[in-house]
Amino acid sequence: MSKIVVNNPIVDINGDEMARVLWNKIKEELIFPFIDLNLLTFDLSIENRDRTNDEITIESAKSIKTNKVGVKCATITPDDKRVKEFNLKKKYPSPNGTIRNILNGTIFREPIIVKKIPKIVGHWNQPVVIARHAFGDIYRSKEVFTGNGGKLKMLYEHKNGIKEEIDIYDFKSDGVGLAYFNTFDSIKDFAYSCFNFSIKRNFPLFLSTKNTILQKYDESFKEIFDVLYEKEFKKEFEKKNLLYQHRLIDDMVACLMKWSGGFVWACKNYDGDVMSDLVAQGFGSLGLMSSILQSPDGEIVETEAAHGTITSHFRQHQNGKETSTNPVASIFAWSKALKHRAILDSNNQLEEFSINLEKFCLETLNKGYMTKDLALMCGPDQKWITTNEFFDIIVSRIKN
Ligand code: NAP
Ligand code: MG
Repeated sequence: MSKIVVNNPIVDINGDEMARVLWNKIKEELIFPFIDLNLLTFDLSIENRDRTNDEITIESAKSIKTNKVGVKCATITPDDKRVKEFNLKKKYPSPNGTIRNILNGTIFREPIIVKKIPKIVGHWNQPVVIARHAFGDIYRSKEVFTGNGGKLKMLYEHKNGIKEEIDIYDFKSDGVGLAYFNTFDSIKDFAYSCFNFSIKRNFPLFLSTKNTILQKYDESFKEIFDVLYEKEFKKEFEKKNLLYQHRLIDDMVACLMKWSGGFVWACKNYDGDVMSDLVAQGFGSLGLMSSILQSPDGEIVETEAAHGTITSHFRQHQNGKETSTNPVASIFAWSKALKHRAILDSNNQLEEFSINLEKFCLETLNKGYMTKDLALMCGPDQKWITTNEFFDIIVSRIKN
């Protein structure tokens, strides 16, 4: 079998612990033997981030921006315990946050659906893709305690000096208040990302807000999406027979439970934070959740598994024990990155490889060969295999 030649590079971001063990195995066993690929590798292990004062994270993001395709392994976001464990110079921020800010993208979280694996919400037969607008709102808010009573007011000073003062509440006793904001630029980029993703994924798009209550704030989200849809995306959506619709958040959560999946849900920041965890649970396993960061124009893509570095399994691995860690979400991160490279380069062979890689994983799981996390979901009679055994099956499927 001759190797598939890929003309343009992919940015490969390595990470930590068990996720890193899986990562290296994927490259050695599933990618390098079959694809002639120029990988631009950045080591974002916590040790190397510390050594480079986190410069490596910024470099990796810039490289994704230039090369348009990145694939990222899970990395440790240090807390106080990790700072001690690795004797770090400081508590570095989450690499995902740093990369997202540089790429100015939206994260789309999509479950991998396997027929054989039961779901908590049984009738979700197709993915629900959550798009979270990860800017502003409560995450950039300022809060006050009112003390023993007083007046809460909002003051906005226009550039030309005109001041708008709005009375919020006259407190008679203890309470709390807050203020938050968003920008039209950020909402517009979010809207672009969502429309472009829907078209590429061939799924309808729903935006949810509470615009009946927030008639300026949430209504602006609806307005910006509506205007952009009419101006730039309506034709393409109609051609593909896709629907775009705004719905009230309460109506949307009811629909989520009623419907069987198969749509992209554009969520405001807090809604996306909460609903992505709800949807992940509804579909079942963290080991089957993938995540794509995409730029507004849809050109730049970074893929990853949604799970973390799986520390508990890494401890076993360090003790020389074989583990049954689920590599599927990480393999799908690679297949999705290869697919984006294939589409940008019009490389049919590479696209076919990426489609087959996903197909082989799903077929293997559906035949009942799966790791322990998934077997536990199927019930006490379901046998499980080790990570190494799972890789052996996939390798032999690719070869034959
Ligand atoms: P985690 O690594 O996702 O693991 C939580 C638990 O979920 C594991 O202990 C394991 O359960 C199960 N699990 C997750 N992925 C699995 C897989 N592929 N196969 C089998 N079981 C799997 O989350 P965490 O323990 O909260 O975080 C560990 C580290 O990861 C932290 O340092 C955190 O900062 C980092 N993290 C990184 C990212 C990212 O880079 N995107 C995301 C989240 C967390 P059992 O132990 O019961 O088997
Ligand atoms: Mg959350």
